[in-house]
Amino acid sequence: MPEIVYDLAIVGAGVMGLFTALFASRRSARILVVDPWRIGDRRAASFSLTRSIRNDYLDPLYARLAYEARKLWLEFQAESSEPFLIECGCLNIARASVTPDLSGTYAEQSYRVLQDLALRTSAFDRSGLRARFPQFDADIGRLDVEAGCLYVPPITATLLARLKTARVSIEDGTRVERIHRRGGRIVIETAVGERLAERLVITAGLGSNELLARIDGCALQLPVRPDRPSESKYFIPPPNKRDQFTPDRLPVFAYLDVGIYGHPMLVGKTPGVKIGYYNPPDVRRQTTSIASVQSFVSQCMPVLADAQVVDVEGADQCSYDLVADDNFILGQIPGVPGAVIGTGWRGTGYKFAPMIGRTLSELALGGSPRADISRFDPQRFVTSHAG
Ligand SMILES: Cc1cc2nc3c(=O)[nH]c(=O)nc-3n(C[C@H](O)[C@H](O)[C@H](O)COP(=O)(O)OP(=O)(O)OC[C@H]3O[C@@H](n4cnc5c(N)ncnc54)[C@H](O)[C@@H]3O)c2cc1C
Repeated sequence: MPEIVYDLAIVGAGVMGLFTALFASRRSARILVVDPWRIGDRRAASFSLTRSIRNDYLDPLYARLAYEARKLWLEFQAESSEPFLIECGCLNIARASVTPDLSGTYAEQSYRVLQDLALRTSAFDRSGLRARFPQFDADIGRLDVEAGCLYVPPITATLLARLKTARVSIEDGTRVERIHRRGGRIVIETAVGERLAERLVITAGLGSNELLARIDGCALQLPVRPDRPSESKYFIPPPNKRDQFTPDRLPVFAYLDVGIYGHPMLVGKTPGVKIGYYNPPDVRRQTTSIASVQSFVSQCMPVLADAQVVDVEGADQCSYDLVADDNFILGQIPGVPGAVIGTGWRGTGYKFAPMIGRTLSELALGGSPRADISRFDPQRFVTSHAG
């Protein structure tokens, strides 16, 4: 039997690899996805229960890309038998007793960015917030309206069903030993034999550097490091209070100046209100009276004081892939013709996944990416030895 030569091999089957395969399968018939773990493995960042989807970045480039990605999510949802996009908005709050300069808070700054981009927002003062979202005890609230959260299991299921229909070959549980070129083709040596491809995409998350080191002649190593949220808890409200915490009443919420973010309870799907405590590197954190999930609840959401508290397990125990310059890594791999990489999503990548998958497939299969990704070029990490 003649050996199969794939048009594209994708190494790494998290949400980025799977979306790359989906977009590539619209242009090309022979696509291979390889991953050392089984798809859905909780060690991969992509297989949790919920992920926030919001546009409220301080950097307008990320805000615009998030909004572009949201359009692709809506298109993808139309192909899914189960809706997964929970459009409850994302509320950024602040309290003067915690962060006295309210005009300098993340809530206020991101609100201005969204307004400049003409994205839908609402602003609340203390009494307006009390009336609309009585769960919060805060002085300001700024709502990113076209935001919310993604319920992940049906997304993974729909992706896998679509890839199966498109006859994409998925070899999970298959370790990649070495990648090199032979006769103009890319040879992927796996634990179960060689696979040949014309083009290569690497979406291996925190395993990207290990994989780059297995490519013959590739000198690229990326300044990516793991980092984890300090705490991630479910607050399970008593049954008689539950309806105050479902997405029709409670949005995704954040107080990013103090490292807090939260998701509403999805009854029958998640055990309670998820609240995490983490300080993203792109946000200047202040030393305040909030230094834990519990101190946030007692000061800003006292209505949850009687909730039962349990740890969030599974993919939320995974690490973020932080990048030294706080920007995504997306583009051609320097010195490896026909190979493209996407990684370094800095704990915020899931919401961008369809846009990233589309871009990686465009880069790999030829054609100009529709999104502006010039800032993300891996070339920026190539050290010049000249002069
Ligand atoms: C706790 C937490 C909370 C988050 N919350 C949000 C959120 O609310 N909103 C949001 O938008 N984003 C969020 N993110 C970020 C988001 O989940 C990730 O950016 C996204 O899932 C990354 O997808 P990925 O496909 O790049 O990586 P992964 O899902 O980690 O997949 C990488 C794949 O590569 C494979 N691999 C690893 N090493 C190798 C190797 N050497 N060779 C071959 N394959 C390899 C792995 O087996 C894995 O399957 C969060 C992340 C974490 C950890």
